[in-house]
Amino acid sequence: HTMYANRYQQIKKLGQGSFGTAYLVHDTKSKHEKKVLKAIFIEDVSPNESLDAEHEASILARLRHPNIVRFYDSFMDANHFCIVTEYCEDGDLDQYLKSLRKQRSRLQMDQVIDLFIQLVSAINFLHSKKILHRDIKTSNIFLKRNHIKLGDFGISRLMMNTLDKASTFIGTPYYMSPETLRFDGYNMKSDIWSLGCVLYELSVCKRAFERSNILQTMEAILRESPPLLPERFPVKVQQLYLQMLSKEPEHRQTAAELLEEFSHIELKPTDK
Ligand code: ADP
Ligand code: MG
Repeated sequence: HTMYANRYQQIKKLGQGSFGTAYLVHDTKSKHEKKVLKAIFIEDVSPNESLDAEHEASILARLRHPNIVRFYDSFMDANHFCIVTEYCEDGDLDQYLKSLRKQRSRLQMDQVIDLFIQLVSAINFLHSKKILHRDIKTSNIFLKRNHIKLGDFGISRLMMNTLDKASTFIGTPYYMSPETLRFDGYNMKSDIWSLGCVLYELSVCKRAFERSNILQTMEAILRESPPLLPERFPVKVQQLYLQMLSKEPEHRQTAAELLEEFSHIELKPTDK
């Protein structure tokens, strides 16, 4: 399969994700621009379900925000539901933080706060439109020059609610909230939990909850206190961080509250 919808020509495979495969493609109908196409294999999809998915996708396509990966197009191609998005050639935060860790390096605190505020802006934008992300993790966060671009929002909803049969979910549990693990329902506060996990990872280049296997990781999320941020972080940031990782969703802040609080954080010159 090298051509999709008579328009997108496959260049190479970027990787395998929780819901399907990501390819780098040329958009032959738009100046051969490079874009990303995600193809999700679907056994048998009913016409109704496919309509729902198309409707969801048309909502996603209308969203524009500087910190959100542009969603261009979606369609069915044979047995695949395909989503076309902006290509972020500088790679994702997971790769970047891993490479920093390997070099025994880390981000400076002002960079951490700056990137995090961009991330919260993206989530605040989605939440204000009643859209949940549902899959916030460092491999869904891209860097484009010093800008954060959040990707893959709403896709899990497209996949899990509308196209039930596609939910061969093999995602990582590292960023999943306690209520999600208990199947207690996903809500906006579940996204806030994941943001807390990402804040920790930005700070120390290591996941907040990671154990030697999935079961132990889940146990840690459900029962253990989150690891603290390094002491060089202002007390206020530490408090905000711990609140995002409250086991009870009601105790976590909203994205709007977080944005407000973080925009008031003052770093001493020595903190940088
Ligand atoms: P996951 O998010 O679970 O890793 P994806 O299918 O979303 O799975 O992505 C698979 C790979 O493709 C990842 O390594 C990711 O960095 C890369 N990728 C996904 N979307 C983009 C994009 N818009 N721009 C650049 N690379 C991407
Ligand atoms: Mg992804």
